[in-house]
Amino acid sequence: MVVMTDVQKHFGDHHVLKDISLSIAAREVVVVVGPSGSGKSTLCRCINRLETITSGSILVDGTALPTEGKALATLRSEVGMVFQSFNLFAHRSILDNVTLAPIQVRKESKKVAEAHALELLDRVGIADKADSFPAQLSGGQQQRAAIARALAMRPKVMLFDEPTSALDPEMVTEVLDVMISLAAEGMTMVVVTHEMGFARRAADRVVFMDDGRIVEQNTPAEFFDHPESERAKAFLSKIL
Ligand code: ADP
Ligand code: MG
Repeated sequence: MVVMTDVQKHFGDHHVLKDISLSIAAREVVVVVGPSGSGKSTLCRCINRLETITSGSILVDGTALPTEGKALATLRSEVGMVFQSFNLFAHRSILDNVTLAPIQVRKESKKVAEAHALELLDRVGIADKADSFPAQLSGGQQQRAAIARALAMRPKVMLFDEPTSALDPEMVTEVLDVMISLAAEGMTMVVVTHEMGFARRAADRVVFMDDGRIVEQNTPAEFFDHPESERAKAFLSKIL
């Protein structure tokens, strides 16, 4: 579903992604971990083209990443992204937040978009919040609304960049539970998170990054219980 080959990314002189080759199968759940500044967010942002890559290639479902124009909008709609900060439109209802892109980008009728949105809000457990505004929701509810909004574009891949890092602890589980059910339904997912319980339960593979490189990757059980590199061992000793 996603094939990255020899991807390099520079910000000016700063070499941020180094020789990244990573293939993610359809229905696979990949958790990306690593120290702050190791390039995890940049990796996600390159997959959905919020950032351009310096060299290499990224294919999503067999299609190379376009640089601009209509093809880019289509590609973006195939890759859903959920951020640490929920980024909901503050002055729009939750229902509007979920239907805006399907109506504007996918050209869905309001009726079709709203029916789908209500289905998705129900799926993430906040159907009763459709007419509320973001500020009226808890952080956990806002993040679930953001997940519904991403799903409304019927993405082939979902990227999550530290989706629970900004949440109060008691709200983390309600968001992770939604992600666990998405994974169980077969969504292809890339998840940057330090939630090791989630990784052990939902991930097919853990990818460990350090200093712009993929240093090692393994099943969650092998990675957490028997990390191979010194860098992974040092990282795990700090977070576990
Ligand atoms: P992580 O998500 O693992 O913490 P990031 O991908 O955010 O890491 O950042 C990787 C490196 O790239 C960091 O050194 C960061 O300072 C740098 N970086 C990220 N975004 C930009 C940007 N827009 N301009 C310049 N440097 C950036
Ligand atoms: Mg980050």
